[in-house]
This record gives sequence, structure tokens and C-alpha cells, in this order.
Amino acid sequence: MTIGIWILGNQLHSEQAALLSCKNNKQETPVIFIESHNYIQEKPYHQQKLVLVFSAMRHFAEELSSQGWQVSYKIAQDFEPSLNAWINQHKITELRLVTPCDRPFSRLIESFKLDCQIKFIPNNHFLWSQAEFKQWNDSRKRLLLEDFYREGRKKFNILMEGDQPVGEKWNFDKQNRKPPKQNLNPPTPLWFEPDEITQQVIKDIKSYKIATYGKIEPFKWGVTRSQALQVLEHFLENNLNNFGTYQDAMVTGEYTMWHCLISPYINLGLLTPLEVIRKIEKAYDEFDYPLNSVEGLIRQILGWREYMYGIYQLMDDDYRDKNWFNHQETLPEFYWNSEQTDMNCLKQILQQVEETGYGHHIQRLMVLSNFALIFGVSPQTINDWFHSAFIDGYDWVMVPNVIGMGQFADGGILASKPYAASANYINKMSDYCKNCVYQKTKRTGEKACPFNFFYWDFLARHQDKLKSLGRMNLVLANLKKMDSEELQEIQSQAQQWREEH
Ligand SMILES: Cc1cc2nc3c(=O)[nH]c(=O)nc-3n(C[C@H](O)[C@H](O)[C@H](O)COP(=O)(O)OP(=O)(O)OC[C@H]3O[C@@H](n4cnc5c(N)ncnc54)[C@H](O)[C@@H]3O)c2cc1C
Ligand code: SF4
Repeated sequence: MTIGIWILGNQLHSEQAALLSCKNNKQETPVIFIESHNYIQEKPYHQQKLVLVFSAMRHFAEELSSQGWQVSYKIAQDFEPSLNAWINQHKITELRLVTPCDRPFSRLIESFKLDCQIKFIPNNHFLWSQAEFKQWNDSRKRLLLEDFYREGRKKFNILMEGDQPVGEKWNFDKQNRKPPKQNLNPPTPLWFEPDEITQQVIKDIKSYKIATYGKIEPFKWGVTRSQALQVLEHFLENNLNNFGTYQDAMVTGEYTMWHCLISPYINLGLLTPLEVIRKIEKAYDEFDYPLNSVEGLIRQILGWREYMYGIYQLMDDDYRDKNWFNHQETLPEFYWNSEQTDMNCLKQILQQVEETGYGHHIQRLMVLSNFALIFGVSPQTINDWFHSAFIDGYDWVMVPNVIGMGQFADGGILASKPYAASANYINKMSDYCKNCVYQKTKRTGEKACPFNFFYWDFLARHQDKLKSLGRMNLVLANLKKMDSEELQEIQSQAQQWREEH
């Protein structure tokens, strides 16, 4: 029997399960990587995402070659013919690969007619396996991040003293999420110059005549495990101290604040979640960093990241099609071109995404996704846009974050209320409103902030549904108090704005 291993672009770790299963037989195990032209045309992806994935694949292929694996690297139109040619060349009888995180990709592979049998090895890039998450869920009456996170802290013994949480509390969120003060001075992120391999990938992408999004240069992301580890170390030394405090703050021109920028690397497999968590814990022990920052970040990786993956795997295939509010609007054109909006918050963040493929959580949730929600964009359309635009976007992470959390399209499986907000929130958490042509306090008339009239229009349109969510009672009471003429004006202004965009 000859086993061959196919490595996907987000499985770039030498401890990944398929490689581990053959590690004592490197020289005799053919390994293949494939860049498929057709696949990258499924969406107009951010050019830097294509560069990141292909460059990281090419670097990892070299690394495996130098370790003695028999590596083939193909640039092809399609996966299937390349796989069959390689299977026949090496007389492979079993094609082995780690189960893809993304369901559509699994379906694609299952549709291939291959000249050998195929074996999926369970994905070991998450702390919780699919079966363990399901078992946890089956043992409970409710799905709740907080419960899952605490279980994870105990299961992996993270920030624990015996069976109690370090600091006697599980959650320090109250100390986090401060609005930005004046003269904040966030640390400079660690970026890299493109090496020869990356420069070649940039040339290749430029030469393909395909629809893409965003700017390809300057490309500053790391593309190897060693660079990803440097980014993590840089973060631990310079950012972790203040990570929690300004986790939700947004400041013009400060793209990354105190965030760690590791999602592109962890999602590709260049870093593993457990090693990241252990290093954060170690930094806490060594440098006595504030617990609110340390716990806040561990909650994101051990809690949210694993939870989103678990939910994605648990839900039926139709989860991605959910549309609780029955939103059908198309996406305003400016999402594809920041020049086309004069709303300063959106303009700043869209510009940043075009330049880097990155935005932090609150920029994504409370500005980009929030606006699409209150405007009434179809959840699937905004999901596709996020998937195209972000450097760290994959189906498994986009679907729960955008369909579930951002758009509340699942009617409350993932969140207990919609993340809908007016200019009030954006003004509190950012400096964007200071330099905007719109007035943050106005709800109607010339210069009224669109976040305001769309917010109240959203509440009015969906009040019957929202009544069923206890946490919306207070805002619905405010809606009730609103003068009916003003509400009418809000609704017609929202409708007019929709028609113009
Ligand atoms: C609408 C929307 C879309 C998103 N799309 C993506 C996406 O395509 N890819 C992606 O990795 N994350 C996504 N997220 C989650 C989160 O915003 C990003 O992981 C984070 O902003 C990445 O930047 P960072 O590494 O600097 O994050 P930091 O805040 O500095 O670090 C937190 C780390 O925790 C993990 N994490 C935290 N929250 C989540 C979450 N909700 N889901 C998954 N991982 C989480 C990430 O690995 C991240 O690196 C999305 C969130 C929203 C609301
Ligand atoms: S006023 Fe409105 S559009 Fe302008 S920055 Fe503030 S929230 Fe955004």
C-alpha cells in the first residue's frame, strides 16, 4: 500500500494529523500541495489573502522537503486532474488528508472521482474535537459560550488553581473595553518584508486575470511558522499588558490597537491554539501582566474560537441559509470601494481592510456587520463579502461569526440579542464621528447619521420579533415613546437612502 498526503492551504503544521500518521515513513510518503486557479475565482478574494496562503504553502512545502518528505507542488487549473496525475505517478493506493474545516470543501472533495481510495484523518487543529463538542452540547440544556469556556478552562487546566479560576473570577470583562482616551499610543505591530518566494507569489497573482479585492502591496504579513511565532512574541512583550483595556476601542489611523494579529496564522495552522494559550499563560506568570488582559485574550481563543468551530460543525448544512429577519437588500456598493462613502467610520475601516485585509473584532461587528444588519442586507450577501475581504476568512469561522453573531440570522442560537447599534455606540468607542460630515446625534433631516435612522427603522420594522428577546425590552420601550411623526420621518429617510444606494 502506498499512502500519499494532500495538504490543504490551511493545514500548514508539521504536527497536523495526516503528516503525524506517516511521520516514521517520510521518505516513502509522497506529499502534494495544489494551488488551484478555479478555486481562487469562487469569490473576489483579497489579493493579500491569496498571497498569504500561497506563499505560506510554498514555504511549508520547502520545509517539508528539507525534512525528507517527497513533496510535489502543483499550480493547476483544478484539483482533481492534478491529484489523479500524482496518484498514478506515485502508484498511490490511499490518499490521506486531514478533514477540512470547511464543509463546502469537504463536499467538493467527496465529489471527486479519484484513482485510489481516500481517507480523512480527524482534524487536530482545534482543542475540542467535533465529537467532544457534540458530547458537551448533548449533556446540556442550553448552548452558552460562558459555560463552554469554563469547561475548557477546567479541561485543559488553563488559568486554574485547583478547581478554582485564578483571581477567583472566571470573567474580568467589566475591566475591559474602555473607550479610547486622547493621546493613546498603541504599539507598532511587527510586519515583514516579502522574501523571494513571496515576491514571486505577488508577481503570479498580479499576472492572473481574475476578479479580486483590496490592495496587493505593501504586503507585510508573515508567511512562515517562525514569523508567526515572532508576531506572537512581539505581542506578548508589547501589547498583552493593555490588550483587555482597549479591546473594543477604535482610533483613526490605528489599524491594530493592542490586538494580537494572530488569526491569519492560527487559521492557516502556522500556530496552534494550545501553544498560543500556554505562551499567554506563561507570560502572565513571568511578567505579572494584568489578569483582565490575560483572561480576556484566553477567553477569545479557548472560548470564542473553539465555540465558533464547534457550533459550525454542530449545525445542519442549512445554518448558512438562515435569515430570521428575512433581509433581502443587496450590499451597498461602497463595501467594495471605500471611496464611495462619506460615512467616516465606514470609510476609515473599509480603507484599512482594502490596505491590509484586517479589521479588529469591534470594527467588524459593530461597524461593518452592524450597518449591513440595520440596512437590511441579506445575511448570505454580507457573509460572502466578509469572506472575500478578510485575510483570515474561512467558511467555518465566517458562517457562525457573520450569519450567527453579526446578523442574528439564526434567531438567537449564537447571541442573545442582535448586535445593532446607532451612532451613539460608535461615537463612544471611537474618534470617527469627530471628523464626519454626518451629525452623530441627529436622527432625521440633512446630515442625520445613517446609523441613527437605520437603527430606529430596524427596531420599528422588527419590533414584533424582537419582543420575544428579553434583552431588547429597554430599547423597544424607547421606540414606543418616540413621537410617531419622527418615526415616520426616520422610516421614509431610511427607505430613500436604501433606494439611492
Ligand atoms: C462579523 C465578524 C466576522 C469575523 N470573521 C472572522 C474571520 O473570518 N476569521 C477569524 O479568524 N475571525 C473572525 N472574526 C472573529 C474576530 O473578529 C477575529 O478573530 C479577530 O478580530 C482577529 O484579529 P486578532 O487576531 O488581532 O484578534 P485579537 O482580538 O487580538 O485576538 C483574539 C484571537 O481570538 C480568536 N477569536 C476571537 N474571537 C473569535 C471569534 N468570534 N471567532 C473566531 N476566533 C476568534 C482569534 O483567533 C483571534 O486571533 C469575525 C468576527 C466578526 C464579528
Ligand atoms: S456620525 Fe455616523 S457615519 Fe459618521 S462616523 Fe459617526 S457613526 Fe459613522
